[in-house]
Amino acid sequence: KKEAVHQVLERIKAQNIQFVDFRIVDLLGRQHHVTVPASEVDERTFEMGVAFDGSSLTGYRSIEESDMVMVPDPTSAFVDPFVEAPTLSLVCNIYTPEGDPYTRDPRNIARKAEAYLKETGIATTAYFGPEAEFFLFDNVQYGNSMKGAFYFIDSEEAAWNTGEPGLGYKVRVKGGYFPVAPTDTMADIRNEMCQLLERCGIRVERHHHEVATAGQGEINFRFDTLTRAADNLLLFKYIVRNVAKKHGKTATFMPKPIVGDNGSGMHTHQSLFNGDTPLFYEKGGYANLSQLALYYIGGILKHAPALTALTNPSTNSFKRLVPGYEAPVNLVFSKGNRSAAIRVPVAAVSPKAARIEFRTPDPTCNPYLAFAAMLLAGLDGIRNRIDPTEHGFGPIDKNLYELSDEEKKSIKSVPASLDEALDALEEDHAFLLAGDVFTKDVIETWIALKREEARSVNRTTHPKEYELYYDL
Ligand code: GLU
Ligand code: MG
Ligand code: MG
Repeated sequence: KKEAVHQVLERIKAQNIQFVDFRIVDLLGRQHHVTVPASEVDERTFEMGVAFDGSSLTGYRSIEESDMVMVPDPTSAFVDPFVEAPTLSLVCNIYTPEGDPYTRDPRNIARKAEAYLKETGIATTAYFGPEAEFFLFDNVQYGNSMKGAFYFIDSEEAAWNTGEPGLGYKVRVKGGYFPVAPTDTMADIRNEMCQLLERCGIRVERHHHEVATAGQGEINFRFDTLTRAADNLLLFKYIVRNVAKKHGKTATFMPKPIVGDNGSGMHTHQSLFNGDTPLFYEKGGYANLSQLALYYIGGILKHAPALTALTNPSTNSFKRLVPGYEAPVNLVFSKGNRSAAIRVPVAAVSPKAARIEFRTPDPTCNPYLAFAAMLLAGLDGIRNRIDPTEHGFGPIDKNLYELSDEEKKSIKSVPASLDEALDALEEDHAFLLAGDVFTKDVIETWIALKREEARSVNRTTHPKEYELYYDL
């Protein structure tokens, strides 16, 4: 760590950095920051941290005990491409005034999950590769008039929202994947996002327009270790949002902004390694998966209803998890099948590339909590030898949206609403308490926050209700 601190301080000098920006997330996964003149930053800053008021952040301490400290991780530095004065940003861990890691800090939970993995002796490293899809909308039309903005957009109207009115044709509904320009109007913006990602140290693998008709995009960047992958995801969202803003647009990661068109998922690729040795590969097994990988799958699928409370934690999340839009509904695994909750990419022929893709999550999750929870579910599967083939979780290699009623009976589904997911988490969370990664307090706080979100949505008159009931 000393070496890393030294490097950051050198970099501040060498690159004439004027400000250092300290970032944390709240419990929900929103980033917050405090900025300090570079002249105020020295070795001590990396030990003592920077004080902030924890009572102002959703899910954190109450007003009577609000003094908190953010301590930067020196290995997380990147130069912020969106502020004028040269500014170095650092991701921080949160500590109490007494100097203890704060138990509700999501990054602290992610780090504990990694430590717990090592303790189990099962593997040294868990890799996560999230694919957060997003929409870009015209800022003038939507972003500045939040009230009612997205409510009345359906897929037909959205077909016109390609940024260039009056061209005389429209993109077919669900026809966004992946005609070239002029159908794809977002290529330049995605290019710019990728260049900034690279500049901030994130290795981009590809980008493309996604299936939804208007302005849905996906940018894939390289997988990383659990906490680092979550850091990267937040930086990714930051860059996507700010490049969109520069272009007069607004980016949203909400899972189902448009009625009747594809939503945005955050498929999460996962694998375990022991040092350099991949643990998910075994030639000849189903999709060349090892027994350990199968148990991991079993754990995820068994705990999936509870997991969704963390991986799909919005009322909007469950509007995405319906048949017909490439989002999963059924809790089964399959090679290549995009309607299954877990897909095993068959293109992954080399041992190191062997992995599973959990397709249920969406980008409204807090990635630190979601990755930690998925790892704990997988480890629970390994420890309890939960073979998915013995628990009715497949494999099933046909289109799951077209199963007969008889076939459907034997297959479990994802929860139908945020409330159902929270019920499942209330019932099933012992696996999250393993190694004290999650505490009871965090789970209770999370459930209370999310119950209130669900209540507030339920209390709100919905546009659909006008259609159904106005003239009744
Ligand atoms: N947008 C789809 C979803 O909601 C996924 C499309 C894809 O396979 O990448 O999960
Ligand atoms: Mg995609
Ligand atoms: Mg995918």
